[in-house]
Amino acid sequence: MVQRYTADCGIVGGGAAGLAAAAFLSRLSGGKISSVVLEKGPRVGKKLLATGNGTCNLSNIHAAPSHYHGTDPRFAAPTLAAFPPAEAVAFFTSIGVECRERENGRIYPLCAQAAAVLDCLRLTLAAQGTAEECGASVTAIRPEKDGFLLKREGAADWYVRRVLVCAGGAASPSLGGSADGYALLSALGHTRTPLFPSIVQVKTDTAFVKAVKGVRVDASIRFEREGRTLAQEQGEVLFTEYGLSGPAVMQISRCVADWERRRQGGMDAVLGLLPEMEERALVASLRRRAALPGRTMGDLLTGLLQKRLGQTVLRAAGYTDLNASVASLKEKDLHRIAQGITGWRIPVRGTQGMGGAQVTAGGIATAEFDPHTLESRRVPGLYAAGEVLDIDGDCGGYNLQWAWASAHAAAAAMVSSLEKGTPDPVKRGTTGRRESMDKDRIFGQKDRKRP
Ligand SMILES: Cc1cc2nc3c(=O)[nH]c(=O)nc-3n(C[C@H](O)[C@H](O)[C@H](O)COP(=O)(O)OP(=O)(O)OC[C@H]3O[C@@H](n4cnc5c(N)ncnc54)[C@H](O)[C@@H]3O)c2cc1C
Repeated sequence: MVQRYTADCGIVGGGAAGLAAAAFLSRLSGGKISSVVLEKGPRVGKKLLATGNGTCNLSNIHAAPSHYHGTDPRFAAPTLAAFPPAEAVAFFTSIGVECRERENGRIYPLCAQAAAVLDCLRLTLAAQGTAEECGASVTAIRPEKDGFLLKREGAADWYVRRVLVCAGGAASPSLGGSADGYALLSALGHTRTPLFPSIVQVKTDTAFVKAVKGVRVDASIRFEREGRTLAQEQGEVLFTEYGLSGPAVMQISRCVADWERRRQGGMDAVLGLLPEMEERALVASLRRRAALPGRTMGDLLTGLLQKRLGQTVLRAAGYTDLNASVASLKEKDLHRIAQGITGWRIPVRGTQGMGGAQVTAGGIATAEFDPHTLESRRVPGLYAAGEVLDIDGDCGGYNLQWAWASAHAAAAAMVSSLEKGTPDPVKRGTTGRRESMDKDRIFGQKDRKRP
């Protein structure tokens, strides 16, 4: 006999949004609503473990719609308002994760360990009896009478009354990113907006950049197209073999990815390598340096910039003979060098793509979902949360805040809709159970046991 399992709510994807949703479902229903987390990877929370370089920047006190993007970023407003960062902190504190605020409003666990966030979520789910089923992809969501059949690859199906798709986005496939969520929802009549990477490393002309591979500098950076600044930021920039990385670059990389898919005109990265020094003071410093006895061009910027970086900037500005004496420098040379330092222009080639991206921009069209409940307007009882939707946040904890907040909105709506009652009267337990296909009643069995 074909076996299938039952739960009130089926959650597709055991990432940030899925795990949080399972916790909220139990909490908001006083333990009356059962849920199952269906994860295709061998374990839940793989991407969560990698967040913030393993330290998990789990929210940001400035989370507001202005930090979010998508076809209609206002879609995120009710969800974010209903579950602001303070609620996220209160929730994590309540499950054992003490939080602290760091620079720019970023919120991290006090222990600075993403693993601790995942552990506390999993302990919460275990304590409330939520079933966690790993190692099998959900391949289809089939609406049936009063519920959904969740088909899985090489594993038994689940039958659930409500389904929440939290299958994430396509970014970082090595950490579980995939297009599955889009496919599952598209098969149910939803549409997907174009996808492109965000919070991603930037590929540039490497003629000079390659020489400073591995150098980190606190700089200002702006991306320019046809003389127009598209985005700018100040912070750490890391030079790499292919171009530019580091927090400041990743923060504003979305505009590069957007340009990359349209390919209209050229784009430049313009770096200010000494953002705290005014150009006049910089020229004065260069004048003093040029007057120092016995110095060569190769030493001109030593003490001002990291040595390899200084020499590369000089080469990029056209000073290729680093053994030449600085004594031959004229006033116009000093200005040219200063401009090379304050506005080092590097042609942009593109991004490192989804493979290097932290987040997917674009996703399932939000117009097809209710912004208050995250329920599909096309398929009643179907919900979506997290990155699978066409909402992406800035770098700095905004994406995880969206995952928690959207999971909370969906969980609250599912609880309310289940509590309002359905044609199927239930007595609910807290975990899923195996049921045979020929049973009429498939929900709300008492004394459920994990299969
Ligand atoms: C390296 C890195 C660092 C990051 N750092 C931060 C940070 O510090 N702060 C921040 O706010 N954001 C950060 N992000 C972004 C953040 O991790 C994501 O936006 C967030 O995890 C999205 O949550 P989600 O639940 O929607 O998707 P995910 O966390 O990606 O979870 C989706 C889950 O669904 C599973 N799944 C997919 N398809 C199926 C299927 N068919 N069946 C069953 N399961 C399926 C996947 O295996 C995955 O486990 C980072 C991302 C990366 C890659």
